[in-house]
Amino acid sequence: MPRYEYRCRTCGDTFELSRPMAESSAPADCPSGHQDTVKLLSTVAVGGSASAAAPAPRAGGGGGGGCCGGGCCG
Ligand SMILES: [Zn+2]
Repeated sequence: MPRYEYRCRTCGDTFELSRPMAESSAPADCPSGHQDTVKLLSTVAVGGSASAAAPAPRAGGGGGGGCCGGGCCG
């Protein structure tokens, strides 16, 4: 049985439910009892490619005493 992920708009919690595909769009109750939930997109492909934009290299001269970053004062 496929699993679907939902998010509660009341408490912000996310939860999964295993239910028939025919009921995938049916309302799902939050584990906490709330009924204002939305169905999230499929989470099947989540978890790959974590290489987003690399953090920008720290440019010198930004804040206080930025000399030692590049080894210029070793
Ligand atoms: Zn909730």
